[in-house]
Amino acid sequence: MNETELMTTPLDFDCPRCQAATSAAFYGPCDDCRRELRATLGTEARDMEAAVYEPKMNVVPNQVATKE
Ligand SMILES: [Zn+2]
Repeated sequence: MNETELMTTPLDFDCPRCQAATSAAFYGPCDDCRRELRATLGTEARDMEAAVYEPKMNVVPNQVATKE
């Protein structure tokens, strides 16, 4: 099995959320669960992302470097 087959061959597994048998390229919630998660957590996920990428505004300069 080459790398392309690894990427395209679906895995058969039970959804970790609803335990329904599903098949997808990557292990995770099934399509129904993903849709539900997107609908219920979509806004929250965007807020979390904004927090992660928020620049640190209160970084204290290295005192040794600024000392005269
Ligand atoms: Zn599911």
